[in-house]
Amino acid sequence: MQELTHYINGEHVKGTSGRFADVFNPATGEVQAKVPLASKDEMDTAVACAAAAQPAWAAVNPQRRARVMMKFVDLLNRDMDKLAEALSREHGKTLPDAKGDVQRGLEVVEYCIGAPQLLKGEFTDSAGPGIDMYSMRQALGVTAGITPFNFPAMIPMWMFAPAIVCGNAFILKPSERDPSVPLMLAELLEEAGLPKGILQVVNGDKEAVDAILYDPIIQSVGFVGSTPIAEYIYGTGCAQGKRVQCFGGAKNHMIIMPDADLDQAADALIGAGYGAAGERCMAISVAVPVGDETADRLIEKLVPRIEKLKVGPYTAGNEVDYGPVVTSAAKANILRLVQSGVDQGAKLVVDGRNFNLQGYEDGFFVGPHLFDHVTTDMDIYTQEIFGPVLSTVRAKTYEEALGYAMDHEYGNGTAIYTRDGDTARDFANRINIGMIGINVPIPVPLAYHTFGGWKKSAFGDLNQHGPDAFKFYTRTKTITSRWPSGIREGGEFNFKAMD
Ligand code: NAD
Repeated sequence: MQELTHYINGEHVKGTSGRFADVFNPATGEVQAKVPLASKDEMDTAVACAAAAQPAWAAVNPQRRARVMMKFVDLLNRDMDKLAEALSREHGKTLPDAKGDVQRGLEVVEYCIGAPQLLKGEFTDSAGPGIDMYSMRQALGVTAGITPFNFPAMIPMWMFAPAIVCGNAFILKPSERDPSVPLMLAELLEEAGLPKGILQVVNGDKEAVDAILYDPIIQSVGFVGSTPIAEYIYGTGCAQGKRVQCFGGAKNHMIIMPDADLDQAADALIGAGYGAAGERCMAISVAVPVGDETADRLIEKLVPRIEKLKVGPYTAGNEVDYGPVVTSAAKANILRLVQSGVDQGAKLVVDGRNFNLQGYEDGFFVGPHLFDHVTTDMDIYTQEIFGPVLSTVRAKTYEEALGYAMDHEYGNGTAIYTRDGDTARDFANRINIGMIGINVPIPVPLAYHTFGGWKKSAFGDLNQHGPDAFKFYTRTKTITSRWPSGIREGGEFNFKAMD
């Protein structure tokens, strides 16, 4: 049984709290490692190391800090296969999907190489008589991030790369479900030249999170995970005077207009609904076809595609479309919600409940499900299922479809499939959701734009990555300066007699 560690001040450090969590291989159901759950004392040690190391790192010029990120990109590419394998083994997603997880984090690291340009300040010459005014962005100091299980490479990199390149130290509290890749990333960043103590990984659960929230030295907290925890961390962190940004759950709707290319829409729904077993905050979990004819034709196209999906372990390579869900508890929760959908009167068109994979009977696999005639009062509609379950809510008109997406409490992403530019434009303008796809099912913005939802999907003013991250991880300081007028006289060479 492998015992994982923390990564504190450049060293792998064993846990001392005596508390551990099991890390599973979701494909086999076996416990493959134990991860230590940090105590407040262990967190305090990491914070003290970070605070000691950070001023010298902030004093390194931005170009040199950026060079560390350049080297880090090389190392991520060098170790891509190793990282993906470790990621799939703990998370369960397929290897190509695991590489995508690393890749979308790597792209934010690439963006961070632009730090010298992105951190440049502002200057006004002669803002008043003989007065100049300038602003600069300074690092916050020690920062922290708490990340979810579903993107164990990407989301930590979205946080720590901008934090660190801005001159901060960063303490990462990764998900206890898949902590190995974050530890590997910390090692790689040091191999790239990062000084010890600037990126530390402290594994843990609520105790470690609370230690972060109440620590007087930590200046900012980033969180990605479920909405109830996001609300707790946002409220508690803000009350402690920290800068906090929290990203929560989702229920992403895709509206399919009668004029849409239905083959394209059906293909998109398969990838966006069932890819990564539906464990993506940008997964499409609700299809909203407009008109019964559109709905009937869409279901007709979806069913054979769903029945063809191959579910299996990542070790089966490209043969597999999606893998197991992360834990047996996640599987039980998905199946409980599916049952509630049946009980509450939705039509289960594709029933994955009896899915069984020979040789992997103890794995956390969930077969694909498709519901039709879902209504907005059902639990499968109101709650985030985070599994391979697609719900169809039929709308009579575009306005009704738009209303469903707008009235849902979550507002992370959404998409519309149509051939009509005017409808698409109206949708993009009116919808109260953060990320919009027009004939694009999972509209995750690229690294140089920003990522964030609205409503109960995000708390705080600034988005993740892109220019917002450089604002989140720095403070503005503005200097107004005036110097005594007149050019100073040169040196005095004559020996003056005392009067
Ligand atoms: P989670 O909320 O259970 O856990 C996230 C983090 O919070 C983990 O590090 C965990 O250790 C910690 N945590 C859990 N319970 C806690 C508690 N009681 N107090 C303090 N900390 C606690 O989320 P998850 O299951 O790891 O991830 C899935 C969720 O994340 C989904 O809701 C998904 O939509 C969301 N998500 C959102 C985004 C986004 O950008 N909006 C991206 C990815 C995932």
